[in-house]
Amino acid sequence: MHNIYQFSNQVISKEWLLDQGLRLLYIDDNFIVDNDIVALFDIKDQGLAYGNSLVVHDTKGVFIVERTTKQLMNEFHQSNRVGFMVSRILSSYFKFKHFLPLVHGNVGYMPLTGGSRSNADWIGLHYVAGFSQVDQIAKFESTQGFNIEFDFPKGNLSTRVHDVSVMAEYFVSSAQIYLRSMNLKVTVANSGSILTAFSTCICPSHQKIPQKYQEVEQGVDHLVDSIFLKMCRGELGYRETVIIYKQKISKTKRNY
Ligand SMILES: [Zn+2]
Repeated sequence: MHNIYQFSNQVISKEWLLDQGLRLLYIDDNFIVDNDIVALFDIKDQGLAYGNSLVVHDTKGVFIVERTTKQLMNEFHQSNRVGFMVSRILSSYFKFKHFLPLVHGNVGYMPLTGGSRSNADWIGLHYVAGFSQVDQIAKFESTQGFNIEFDFPKGNLSTRVHDVSVMAEYFVSSAQIYLRSMNLKVTVANSGSILTAFSTCICPSHQKIPQKYQEVEQGVDHLVDSIFLKMCRGELGYRETVIIYKQKISKTKRNY
């Protein structure tokens, strides 16, 4: 029952779930967010007696929770430790202007509207095998083989998916190079998703993806700089504070 395949051959959309699909849904307010969320539908303003989000989950099926999609997305730090922090820095590094996605390695959640500051619908691109944009609808085919649709009032879906993929590829490439320094190898668990489909692209953003260790170091430096600036900006002499902190970190790396 609590399985995504309860909707065999049915295109999953908010309208359908709230109409014919509603009787098949269940409530799970103990749900803790994880990477197996396929999609989130914002239903805050739908006038329902209960629930603010619909969760489409790989193993748990489709269910209703009282928390809003914004609250759910902001809980991701509980499972990945960093929440939106790295995504925000990565997005500004690439100068992407769209609504902020949540990227963590080969996990990529893209908001269809609104972004992280308001309630939005979200799609997990690591569960997407293909997509198309028809009028103002975004259509996705999941890696499990079902179809899911969202309202997509504005923007170029292909560009949006590409840009989330760039961020994921940057993250994955950095992790792979870094782990090589530990004599480890890391591979993408589900390489058939759209997050790896743009890997042969040669646009300026894709050319920024690290290929060697020094580039990963630069990325980490940028990350540390951004965090320090966020922490200290506005304080008197914050530039000096940042320099002192960084010198202290450098010292701890040395063997005296
Ligand atoms: Zn590209």
